[in-house]
Amino acid sequence: SVVTRFAPSPTGYLHIGGARTALYSWLHAKASGGKFVLRIEDTDRERSTDEAVQAILDAMAWLNLQHDGEITYQTQRFDRYAQVIDQLLAEGKAYRCYSTTEEVEAMREAARAKGEKPKYDGTWRPMPGKTLPEPPAGVDPVIRFATPLEGDTVINDLVKGDITISNTELDDLVIARGDGTPTYNFCVVVDDMDMGITHVIRGDDHVNNTPRQINILKALVGDDGALPVYAHVPMILGSDGKRLSKRHGAVGVMRYREEGYLPAALLNYLVRLGWAHGDQEIFSRDEMLAHFDIENVQGGASTFDPDKLLWVNQEHLKMAEPEALVDELAWHLARQGVDNVDHARLAEIAGIQKGRCKTMLDMAQQSLFLFSSVSEYDEKAVKKHMKAGSPALLADVRERVAALDAWEGDVLGAAVKQTATDNEVGMGKVAQPIRIAVTGSAVSPSIDATLLLLGRDETLKRLDAAVA
Ligand code: GLU
Repeated sequence: SVVTRFAPSPTGYLHIGGARTALYSWLHAKASGGKFVLRIEDTDRERSTDEAVQAILDAMAWLNLQHDGEITYQTQRFDRYAQVIDQLLAEGKAYRCYSTTEEVEAMREAARAKGEKPKYDGTWRPMPGKTLPEPPAGVDPVIRFATPLEGDTVINDLVKGDITISNTELDDLVIARGDGTPTYNFCVVVDDMDMGITHVIRGDDHVNNTPRQINILKALVGDDGALPVYAHVPMILGSDGKRLSKRHGAVGVMRYREEGYLPAALLNYLVRLGWAHGDQEIFSRDEMLAHFDIENVQGGASTFDPDKLLWVNQEHLKMAEPEALVDELAWHLARQGVDNVDHARLAEIAGIQKGRCKTMLDMAQQSLFLFSSVSEYDEKAVKKHMKAGSPALLADVRERVAALDAWEGDVLGAAVKQTATDNEVGMGKVAQPIRIAVTGSAVSPSIDATLLLLGRDETLKRLDAAVA
């Protein structure tokens, strides 16, 4: 059965491109009842931090891309890497190389001068009938993988199609440094093998690594051993055609949370970025699982479109069950200083607001007036909208809404409208003073939603306080 992995390097937050790769891997595994595992590629100790690991885990949890089993940390596997290196040395599939950095650079230069690919020249590679030089004293050798000298390496890439590389173009890759630490490409191979990965789904910036990894893998599992299937997912570009980066605004997934996007909307947007199912734009999680097919991912880069993301978010807000918005609403309210609102109240607010807001941040901000009594009235608004006749209109509207049987949006709206009609004034002459009275400012959701959200008691209380 299928096992996919997501293998981030914890050098920063989980960015949009990484999240999409993770999503594709998760979908590919889960659509067939397979496993999705997580590997933290933290061997670059200079650049990896615990905070970044946590940020990635938090973002994965927020997106609800759950991994199966324990997390693999590469830094906990050095013994295993050393063991495999010994094995390759013992089998003659790797060798110690004592060439200095300067010597290797000179070899590369010589190759370039001949119009060839810059490459290590194989000085220390054992060959039948070849006598190796005497190892110099005091030099810690690197370990190089003995890349096949002929033949081709073929990647049957599910996204890009077959990619064929001649082995003569490939260097004898360093798999362990002079200090014995394994190198990146080598760790990946040992991990993918040990973790039983069947499908490697990753960014196409790794395409050049793949033939090297395949050769090492073949040396470990044998020519007939099982190799994973590869799928290299193209890059995401900003609107200027350059690779998506900080210049284009928010790139960290959790920034999108702060901006009020729903995880389901972000995933929906990301799944469509490079993949299509007919002309369907809006996908629930189940629909993604039902229809996603890695083989239908397009080979070319896609362009990130913030406006479309916002639209997708709004669609998800509209279709969400109010209950499903409670966690995000609570999180945003807490960030605005409002804590401990009970679940039922949050669901009620979400139900009224979800069709009117673009983001959850919007929703929280437009609900803040509910959580503090009106202590001050916005001066400018008062000056502009509170006229000599306003108190009488407010008293009139108070009487009408107090008499309503049901506290519902449409009847509330109708009551306000009727007040305006009966008093022969425009709607704004009534609605704006009400807004100021019950929220302190002239800006609030529609008047019916404002009153509906406040509820009968609070509305009457605030109207009374304003005309007092
Ligand atoms: N750690 C690599 C990255 O963050 C991914 C390697 C892989 O998926 O093979 O780009």
